[in-house]
Amino acid sequence: MHTLNTLPFNNRFATLGEDFFQRVEPTAVEKPFLIHVNQQAADLINLNIESENNADLLAYFSGEKTFVEGDALAMLYSGHQFGHYVSQLGDGRAIMLGETNGYELQLKGSGQTPFSRNADGRAVLRSTIREYLCSEAMHGLGIPTTRALCMLGSEEVVHRERLEYASVMVRMAPSHVRFGSFEVFFHRRQFDLLKQLADFMLEEHFPECLQQEEPYVGLLQEVVTRTAKLMAQWQLVGFAHGVMNTDNMSILGLTLDYGPFGFLDSYNPDFIGNHSDHQGRYVFHQQPNIGLWNLNMLAQAMLPLLEADNPELAVEKARAVLQSYQPSYLDAFNSGMSEKMGFYAGTNSKEGDAELANNLLTIMAKNQVDYTIFFRKLADFKAYSSKNDSELRDLFLDREAFDHWAVDYRQRLIEEGSDDVQRKRAMNQVNPKYILRNYMAQIAIEKAEAGDYSEIDKMMRLLQTPFDEHPDAEIYAGHPPSWAEQISVSCSS
Ligand code: AMP
Ligand code: MG
Repeated sequence: MHTLNTLPFNNRFATLGEDFFQRVEPTAVEKPFLIHVNQQAADLINLNIESENNADLLAYFSGEKTFVEGDALAMLYSGHQFGHYVSQLGDGRAIMLGETNGYELQLKGSGQTPFSRNADGRAVLRSTIREYLCSEAMHGLGIPTTRALCMLGSEEVVHRERLEYASVMVRMAPSHVRFGSFEVFFHRRQFDLLKQLADFMLEEHFPECLQQEEPYVGLLQEVVTRTAKLMAQWQLVGFAHGVMNTDNMSILGLTLDYGPFGFLDSYNPDFIGNHSDHQGRYVFHQQPNIGLWNLNMLAQAMLPLLEADNPELAVEKARAVLQSYQPSYLDAFNSGMSEKMGFYAGTNSKEGDAELANNLLTIMAKNQVDYTIFFRKLADFKAYSSKNDSELRDLFLDREAFDHWAVDYRQRLIEEGSDDVQRKRAMNQVNPKYILRNYMAQIAIEKAEAGDYSEIDKMMRLLQTPFDEHPDAEIYAGHPPSWAEQISVSCSS
């Protein structure tokens, strides 16, 4: 195990040179204090963060001190925001400190960079708590994501709709490279830099693609497959990202940049988490399509790599790869739904399973049934008797709609000779008991803003093992309180 003072650095991204980033030192926040450390993430870099002394944590992660062997930089990227190309974005408030044990350590909220445009480079406490908790919640749910290592508060005041305190978190990922990191070089027609970035990603993050005849096609294929799977995982757990701009899409297929996200409470495919998304571009049910739209933008940016001298052939190759998206997505979504409904994994999904899932989602939407609560309770369904059905059917206003569905579901379970006990065990491993509902984040935020940070640690423990029972936190497994509907989440962060 290392300490902060002995972390070994190997700054791979920095070797790309200054066409890809700008070197910049963090600007320390005023009067920082420690809010939380996450040993689970620290384990990934062999850091014993729980036994670190406070002074070192504050010095390194407030931005006051940089790692001697690190190489602090802000990454360049562009991207399509709400469908429109923006030619230069870049890390406006994130600074990568360096790479250790295969992970980039990034401060978020560490002050201005050459990419800040006129913004302050800071992040407010409220948005930092949301990102900190949600990245670990997603990891707990088995969904690829950037990780959260540590979180600091400060007495520095920043201006948003109101005055708020600045906060800093340390984010970790094997790579923070985004679709937009490729787009910027395509749109500037800097194809040599585009190639350099692709070669770097192949070597460091997709070495298996280098064995293929056409590594760049392989790279695009891998991103398509990972993104399709990620979108299915989001839909299956009821996660709405909120700002699926191409600068927030990870090349590694990680959930990246937690802003105005939201988990569904009642199942509502028309849910728009981001109140600034007036057109509803990133509405829940559109996420898989947006994933593909974004991949189209990436594929376009990679065209010069696919077939430099023959644009038509390049387009053909890109199309062929993109065509695999829909089947990959459907495959992941349908098999995920079969698991959620408790059908034996490994048995061929039967014809009609997708319809059964669709019918369920339709009546859940009509009846505004809580998505997470329903699937968790579905594990108690008895295949060979309807005596137990009432708890489930009571979740529906239209109880007959549930009864109709239950007839088909029961028949399907009987057909495969489903065992109630075994099925429940399996279902409880895929249907979480706990998700980070907006109101929960809100409770943690309001307490923190009043100086009590205890809820963050409590929720963290819960969300890191969301499939387990947590008797002391039963309240968070229930329906959200009525005030939850009033919570409004904007882009402001
Ligand atoms: P986001 O919507 O958080 O993904 O941010 C979009 C772009 O705006 C990125 O380039 C961010 O770095 C930048 N940005 C957002 N907030 C700030 C801020 N407070 N200071 C500087 N840049 C910011
Ligand atoms: Mg972003």
